[in-house]
Amino acid sequence: MLRSLSCFFVIFWVSSCHVSSHKMQDEPLLPTSDLFDTAALGRSIDLINKLSLGQTVPDESWNQLFDSKGFQVLEIATGKSRYSYQSMLEFHYSKAKSNERYLIREGKDVIKKAELSHFEYVIANRKACEGIIKNFVDERLYEEADQLARSFIPKGMLSRLNSKPTVFFLVIGQNAYANDLGVVADPFFFETLGREARVAVLAHELHHVYFDTLLPKEFSRSHPFTSLAYNIQKEGIADLIDKPNLLGRAGERTFGEELIKVYRDLFAQGPAVIENINSGYLQYQQDKVAFKPNWAELRPVGGHASGYYMALAIRRAGLLNEWLLELSNPHAIFLYYDKARKKLNDPALAPIHPALLSFYAGAE
Ligand SMILES: [Zn+2]
Repeated sequence: MLRSLSCFFVIFWVSSCHVSSHKMQDEPLLPTSDLFDTAALGRSIDLINKLSLGQTVPDESWNQLFDSKGFQVLEIATGKSRYSYQSMLEFHYSKAKSNERYLIREGKDVIKKAELSHFEYVIANRKACEGIIKNFVDERLYEEADQLARSFIPKGMLSRLNSKPTVFFLVIGQNAYANDLGVVADPFFFETLGREARVAVLAHELHHVYFDTLLPKEFSRSHPFTSLAYNIQKEGIADLIDKPNLLGRAGERTFGEELIKVYRDLFAQGPAVIENINSGYLQYQQDKVAFKPNWAELRPVGGHASGYYMALAIRRAGLLNEWLLELSNPHAIFLYYDKARKKLNDPALAPIHPALLSFYAGAE
């Protein structure tokens, strides 16, 4: 999704949404199914309750969350460590951090303020989480999202997608992530989206699961510019599914005008990122051993800015279906973007350096 871009309260909360430590280990009281798994969410809400009440959270409770499959999907998809997740919840919910939260609330960092608001929303609405989940645990919505995701996969590859990925719910912020194990999503974020945007965001994530599933077994991200292309192609295709919606009116409603402007500006960096990639590749060629990729320059916003920019050009040139046939080759986005740039003959489209194109074409 957009970023690692991307809940207070408590009194004596005895509602059907409450999950006691004892119950949590056995059977989550929240509705759960093969398609929607709420075990990790129940554990995260239990931790949030304890933190906001100023209670000490025993290591055992944290470990129960970290051992859940939902958390493991998050860990693998984002590289987010257990420590950083724990710090994130402690920051947002422990009383000891209330001054730091106040400074953000009063400050000018729009993204941090939005993140804070989200976690405040979670805590204010945690009692309603069962209803929120019921709104989302909708097999028709899942089916629509799945069909939408599959419409961006060539027909010849569909038979390789056997099972439907599980969506794991967890409090993570205004975001969702995925890898070949499934999707991890924050239901409180989905709650703020209209139905069309929910379908689109879920389809974006399901496409990621399928993209990873369809990669050749021997695929390796050890080469920095293959790793880069992997991110850019993965996000570029999936952004065609949900960004027209999220960066438009639906995004304004969910994120607010100020934050959506920040996102639109981030997504407008495509040409500048391509320049960074070109010069990064030349540095790599000069000294492959000493080269240390600067991911903040090569892949800002997780590959979205350049990926969406290149994918839009490919679609505008009428090459989308041809590109999708090479879905399992992450280098293809650079080659098809170059074809699109030449076909469109649009001088505004940033060129890819010929040496980098040779690399992606397999000429070196
Ligand atoms: Zn994504």
